[in-house]
Amino acid sequence: MQSKIIVAIDGHSSCGKSTMAKWLAHQVGYIYVDTGAMYRTITLYALRSGFITSAGIDTEGLKASLGNIKVSFRLDPDTHLPLACLNNEVVESEIRGMEVSDNVSPIAALPFVREVMTAQQQQMGREKGIVMDGRDIGTAVFPDAELKIFVTASAEVRARRRYDELIGKGETGINLADIERNVVERDYIDSHREVNPLRQAPDALVLDNSHMTKDEQNRWLLSQFETCVAAHQQ
Ligand code: C5P
Repeated sequence: MQSKIIVAIDGHSSCGKSTMAKWLAHQVGYIYVDTGAMYRTITLYALRSGFITSAGIDTEGLKASLGNIKVSFRLDPDTHLPLACLNNEVVESEIRGMEVSDNVSPIAALPFVREVMTAQQQQMGREKGIVMDGRDIGTAVFPDAELKIFVTASAEVRARRRYDELIGKGETGINLADIERNVVERDYIDSHREVNPLRQAPDALVLDNSHMTKDEQNRWLLSQFETCVAAHQQ
């Protein structure tokens, strides 16, 4: 039997990491985990519970409530794609909106939040056969992952893709400039936080997909995967 590997896909905001990761996992029969969805789900909890206000984040309140937050995934019975759940409630569409996007990076920078999420992610990958995307998968969650990819694209291209995606989902009242500001701001906070900042792992393969079609990037990813698996078979 082919031995299974861990695929870590990190990179900047909105550069299509999740789409690639989901596609690869489906192609090769691996589990797919979107760690951004986990941070978004905690952020939704913090928003709903009043721990995020115009005055800032009530970190002590959030910390004390961590035991009440269960982040999990449930498979959509039709698409078989994972849906993020907060205390067993499916929150997949709510976590993709602008309110969560605008607040997620400061929440993800809190050390106690990262500690809990990292432990949960490591547990999910203990048997390998997993494609995980995020910001610190190849550097902190699975520093020994067999295949590490770092994805990037220009901020303009990323904002346009995100805008098209949100419009496609029927979201109204959004504008391109706000999205670009959000993407740039999240990258800044993610790269400058103290705990497990967004960094390219030294052994990651870099993919700038600004001018690539989805098909081109999928072919590239699958060929990297096959090469890596073959190398680990020997
Ligand atoms: O991947 P996505 O854009 O949905 O992630 C949302 C946010 O969650 C990121 O901007 C980042 O602040 C945080 N995140 C993180 N570490 C990860 C995945 C996401 O800090 N592994």
